[in-house]
Amino acid sequence: MRHPRALLATLCLVAAAITTIPARSQTSDTAATRVTTSLAPTAAPVAARFDVDSATRAYMAQLSPEARARSDAYFEGGYWLLLWGFLYGLAVAWLLLGTRLSARMRDVAERATRRRALQTAIYAAEYIVLTAILGFPLTLYRDFFREHQYALSNQNFIQWMRDEVVGLAVGLVLGTLALVIIYAVIRKVARSWWIWGAGVAIVFLAFVATIAPVYIAPLFNTYRPLPESQLRTEILSLARANGIPANNVYEFNASKQSKRISANVSGMFGTVRISVNDNLMNRATPAEVKAVLGHEMGHYVLDHVYTELVFFAVLIVIGFALVQWAFARVHARYGGRWDIRGVGDVAGLPLLVALFSIYTFAMTPVFNTITRTIEAQADAFGLNAAREPDGFALAAVQLSEYRKMHPGPIEELVFFDHPSGWNRIHRAMVWKAEHIEHPSIAAE
Ligand SMILES: [Zn+2]
Repeated sequence: MRHPRALLATLCLVAAAITTIPARSQTSDTAATRVTTSLAPTAAPVAARFDVDSATRAYMAQLSPEARARSDAYFEGGYWLLLWGFLYGLAVAWLLLGTRLSARMRDVAERATRRRALQTAIYAAEYIVLTAILGFPLTLYRDFFREHQYALSNQNFIQWMRDEVVGLAVGLVLGTLALVIIYAVIRKVARSWWIWGAGVAIVFLAFVATIAPVYIAPLFNTYRPLPESQLRTEILSLARANGIPANNVYEFNASKQSKRISANVSGMFGTVRISVNDNLMNRATPAEVKAVLGHEMGHYVLDHVYTELVFFAVLIVIGFALVQWAFARVHARYGGRWDIRGVGDVAGLPLLVALFSIYTFAMTPVFNTITRTIEAQADAFGLNAAREPDGFALAAVQLSEYRKMHPGPIEELVFFDHPSGWNRIHRAMVWKAEHIEHPSIAAE
């Protein structure tokens, strides 16, 4: 789930945005941020027959205090990892610049060839591999040891390392390509590089978001058509009812990496693919699977990939403008000491990356709120489409394995890229209360 993108993230300038999009399209989570409990006067008798709050409490009580403490600790540790990862990245940039290692890497590239694009490519490859190596201790702790500590991983070290190396190879190809194009643009347009550079980053982001599910995901997992079953028939019926042109459902072996449940509906230009992971198929009830897929279909029908691209495009343009402003100032002061000739000099890449990471770190609540709001929309769509409020609530309980169930409002605003489990369960129970008269809901 995290491998290809997380690596890519550390490797190129468009990192922050790249991580967010595919990461989300793979998560199957569901729920709503804002909950309105004030029922209309006519709904009063309904509320009397179905108590939303006690139903929510009953689902929350399915988790033992130990399980709650464990998932709280895992998720809250993530807040600190965000900070450590940020500071670690700054330290790596400082090391590359302060020791003039970055300038020497550029000199190596310039001695190797006279072609500017090739020089950029050589430097980019050096940079991507070196930062992956320097960042490895943190990656190893965060993605291997810590995942095992919380019993979320199914991989031994060799299997995990194989995925890391494949992720690095993908990052090397895509990152080098992106940097060659961005630097060609920076040199061409000089002062207005930030707007053109942002344009390239956005196009590249759209490209990666488009090819990732089709070409990158299969490098890590195997996709097989889901065998004929009642559930498969119902999934395809749900798709048809919502105007999704899919005629097959795929199952992929996510259990190879972790115990996490997930699904996605991906594709553009008429190629739609509904994928469920084997953890979801093995660990969830049919009602849960349908509830999760209702949510995923919501992402597809509501064009969330494009919505996010628009939001991220705006944030990237603002980020590049700020980076340009800051780069000029830092360069005026330290450019000589670090042997960086200007913004068009690839040796300045660690500085560009560091400045952009300061921006994305500061904007964490904004990025999270954009995605959380979109996720809440998909939740609402999924409840209406699948009509499985209890399946939805059960899935929210299972997702608590790696997400804190009941954060404070500020905590949810800053750190949550999906609505919290409590919010999702509560929203599902509100939906149930409002549909309790319907025979299919009342029957449960
Ligand atoms: Zn989602």
